[in-house]
Amino acid sequence: MTLRDITGHASIRQLIARAVMRDTLPPCLVFTGPDGVGKRRLALAVAELLNCEALAGGDEETDSDACGACRSCQRIKRRIHTDVLLIESGETGAIKVDAIRAVVDQAAFRPFEGRRRVVIIDDADRLVPEAQNALLKTLEEPPDGSVFLLVTSRPHMLLPTVRSRCPDLRFGALSTTDIVELLVERHEFDPAAAQAAAGAADGSLSRALETSSVDHLQARQSAAAVLRMLAPPLNPKQRLEAGKELTGRRRGGKSSAAEVRETLTRRLRAMGTLFRDLQVVSSRGEPAWLSNPDLADELNELARSYDGDRAGRGYASVDRAVRALAPPRYASPKVVVDWLTLQL
Ligand SMILES: [Zn+2]
Repeated sequence: MTLRDITGHASIRQLIARAVMRDTLPPCLVFTGPDGVGKRRLALAVAELLNCEALAGGDEETDSDACGACRSCQRIKRRIHTDVLLIESGETGAIKVDAIRAVVDQAAFRPFEGRRRVVIIDDADRLVPEAQNALLKTLEEPPDGSVFLLVTSRPHMLLPTVRSRCPDLRFGALSTTDIVELLVERHEFDPAAAQAAAGAADGSLSRALETSSVDHLQARQSAAAVLRMLAPPLNPKQRLEAGKELTGRRRGGKSSAAEVRETLTRRLRAMGTLFRDLQVVSSRGEPAWLSNPDLADELNELARSYDGDRAGRGYASVDRAVRALAPPRYASPKVVVDWLTLQL
């Protein structure tokens, strides 16, 4: 994993490349930001960069990066480099103090085969308090040659004493374009399915991957169909009838209550992206801002009925509906859909 293999986060990649080049990388960093945007991949890229035997680039024009091919890069990639330690939560969902004590002991020695020892603690919010306390001393006086990277989407779960010793690097959400690119290149989505998935993923690749590409496409088709049906003025009975498409089951299958809820949530998220796009269209925004650029024609057609105000209200209602379906409320799908179709 090299820095150039990471999608998005250009300024963080640049910051890190320069810090490594100037040897000013802090001995401890917390990578924070949403789940599924590539924080852990970037931590592994830092490990390669710090240990690569054939560093590329590194002048004023280009930032330095690992080669990705030398013995050290290969060993890190295969997770067998003795100086690059990846700590994860076990089956219990917690990172226990024993795991941290072992790392702390090891960090007291010089790196064995590489230039720098890199300790990556993934989901660092799962460190039990005792484990965080065991880390503290090491973070206070980091041993020469060791770098600690704490990766978490919930930095508030870290003890203040830990946070105060480690500067934060904040990762933002990925752009829709970044996610489309990742889905097509790395996850074999076809372009239309990638657009549908990325539009509803809220900047998180892992969310886009939670659902199969076919489900994303179906969710978006169903959301668009309901918007078409609800476009003209209808009486309440007709509106409620149109809404049934949202809770409709797929052909042939029986669905559990949880599946119905999940399918509906997916369709509503897709509908949210369509409303967002309708706002873009009605404010004559750039096509590049669309979450569903492949549906531009359909969006232009729908925008005749859904002006900016209606689309804005629609987006807010969909958002309320999605939240009502989620814990802790678990509102009834039918009640939510009936309410929603009368709002749109
Ligand atoms: Zn290398």
